[in-house]
Amino acid sequence: MIYIKYDLKTIDEKRALIKNKLFERSSNIKSENFDRISEKDLYILYELYDEIFLQNWFKQNFKGNIKFILSRQLTRAAGNTRTRKNIAEIESENIEFEVKISLNHLINFNKINRTKYVGGIEAHSITDSLMLVFEHEMCHVIEFILYNKSSCSKKPFKDLIYNLFGQTESTHKLVSSYEANVFEYGIKQGDRVKFNYKGKCISGFIQRINKRATVMCPDLHGSYIDKFGRRYSKYYVSPESLLKSD
Ligand SMILES: [Zn+2]
Repeated sequence: MIYIKYDLKTIDEKRALIKNKLFERSSNIKSENFDRISEKDLYILYELYDEIFLQNWFKQNFKGNIKFILSRQLTRAAGNTRTRKNIAEIESENIEFEVKISLNHLINFNKINRTKYVGGIEAHSITDSLMLVFEHEMCHVIEFILYNKSSCSKKPFKDLIYNLFGQTESTHKLVSSYEANVFEYGIKQGDRVKFNYKGKCISGFIQRINKRATVMCPDLHGSYIDKFGRRYSKYYVSPESLLKSD
């Protein structure tokens, strides 16, 4: 068990300290709203959090390995922590974690001008957002090590993250690629659009949209059939090359 509890003022001070050291040590992250980051920066954060918040708990207790990944695939979640299902049966030095931080949420952070939150705490900058998401994932790792399972919707996790980092929610209100696209290009799911494909103008409707839009286009020879028997071809198109049509 980790018996560490900080008051909110101490948490703020520790975060400020981590931020300053991160700016010092990282060759990418030099300011609040950085535009470069590498996976090495996540390892720097890990060391700083262990030292400044966790009293070197990881250094002293954890013999396994954590792989930190910046992910372009995570769209809804801002982070994700995975380990083997049979973690309880694995020798402690062979335990491995994969901690992913979503690059999309960092890239999209300033595309929308509204207040953003992670875990109930306001994120004022990309660095804030990165750190708050990182704290959430660290709590997953700790919980997995202690109990061989982890769930951020359950009480033990909520207690842990509140005591350590003052976070009160397991969700975030960051800017998703979907929200950024709706704002930047004015397009959303269901919209009729046209685009240029190999010199031809093709029209269809947006079935899904994240970083790219999935556009379904009527096509007599298409391999997708709707419930009315109409056939479509599917295209993945980047949002900036779509035109709204009506
Ligand atoms: Zn979680």
